[in-house]
Amino acid sequence: MTARPPLLPVTEAIARIAAAVPAMPAETVAIADLNGRSLAAPITARTSHPPADVSAMDGYAARADDLASLPARLRMIGESAAGHPFPGRIGPGECVRIFTGAHCPAGTEMIILQEDTKAEGEDITVYETPARGRFIRNAGNDFAKGDTLIEAGSKITARNVALIGSAGYGSAEVRKRPLVAILSTGDELVEPGIVPKDNQIVSSNGIFLENLVRVLGGETLSSRIVRDDPAALEDALDEASAADLIVTSGGASVGKHDGIANRMQTSRDLDFWRIAMRPGKPLLFGTIGDGESRTPLLGLPGNPVSTGVCGIIFVAAALNAMLGHDPLPQYRHAVLDGDLPENDGRQDFLRARVYQNDSGQLHADAFPKQDSGMLAVFAHADALIMRPVRAPAAARGSIVPVLPIPAGI
Ligand code: AMP
Ligand code: MG
Repeated sequence: MTARPPLLPVTEAIARIAAAVPAMPAETVAIADLNGRSLAAPITARTSHPPADVSAMDGYAARADDLASLPARLRMIGESAAGHPFPGRIGPGECVRIFTGAHCPAGTEMIILQEDTKAEGEDITVYETPARGRFIRNAGNDFAKGDTLIEAGSKITARNVALIGSAGYGSAEVRKRPLVAILSTGDELVEPGIVPKDNQIVSSNGIFLENLVRVLGGETLSSRIVRDDPAALEDALDEASAADLIVTSGGASVGKHDGIANRMQTSRDLDFWRIAMRPGKPLLFGTIGDGESRTPLLGLPGNPVSTGVCGIIFVAAALNAMLGHDPLPQYRHAVLDGDLPENDGRQDFLRARVYQNDSGQLHADAFPKQDSGMLAVFAHADALIMRPVRAPAAARGSIVPVLPIPAGI
């Protein structure tokens, strides 16, 4: 018997996937549809914000010299409201009634708060003044024309959209959504909603992966069940190769019916197979097709939790790399609520409940049942506790890395 190659470490598997997947081309998208997209080019301000000196309060725009001694009397010569600036200049002994967001008239050195004055017809008496310059928002104090406001590779939020619009844009360049073809392999599978016969189970992986892809910024091109038959698999792969990424579930292990593993192993298409991870040891990665039109393929083990955890780590790595984001998992730290045994040679991802205690400290509690077929436990987890290869036993109260399961997944 020939010795198997050693299991590939998780970070190396991520690096190999990230290096092999194509960067998505850019497309122009209207501002109304930018939320959640990945910025392809930096946003540089086309205008300054605010565009002119404006008032931050309701009150009176005045000159400092006229307010050297208090109370002081000023004559109101006009009004400046948002969208309706006062065209003149403030002269000695004069002031202009001003509202929040209105342009400061020429000569403005301070904004006197309305509540520190008393008005009698055209005259006002000022009882208190702020420091010079106070309550004036200077032109460009938020951002100036030419400033880089958002870096390429950012995932756009509602707040980013506001900033992009304010910077003078009605659209932005974002990465096209990667199109993903999903193949759920197995003779035992039926689609959700169909009552399985005795020898059948519902395929939960397909619908999970469709949702995962959507949350991660991709789009499902096709999602179907494929029988454990080499010819059927080849047909399905042919059709799926129109996608930017193929994700399969099942058939990745060493069994006779593990079609994906057999298909990929015997060709030059395999990049790696079998990684030092639990759950997810049989993970495989390669590319299929010829020449220019090669399509990356990520083969996930079929157990629903293996598919789930590998999806959260490796489908995310592939899509993040394609969209210009960091492909590595972003761990946080949490205090352990129970003891964990020492770990073996496979990086472990334990399903856990994570919560914040009264003082805001993150705590993690691993579920006692960690079988990779337990979808219900997985569905109720908030995070995965990451146990490094050969980690020593960790006692209750120690700090461990946790990978939060993103909202929507
Ligand atoms: P496999 O990786 O094909 O050996 O499958 C491992 C286990 O996962 C078996 O118990 C399968 O029945 C189950 N399984 C495979 N594919 C799916 C799927 N799409 N949905 C739910 N369970 C699956
Ligand atoms: Mg199978």
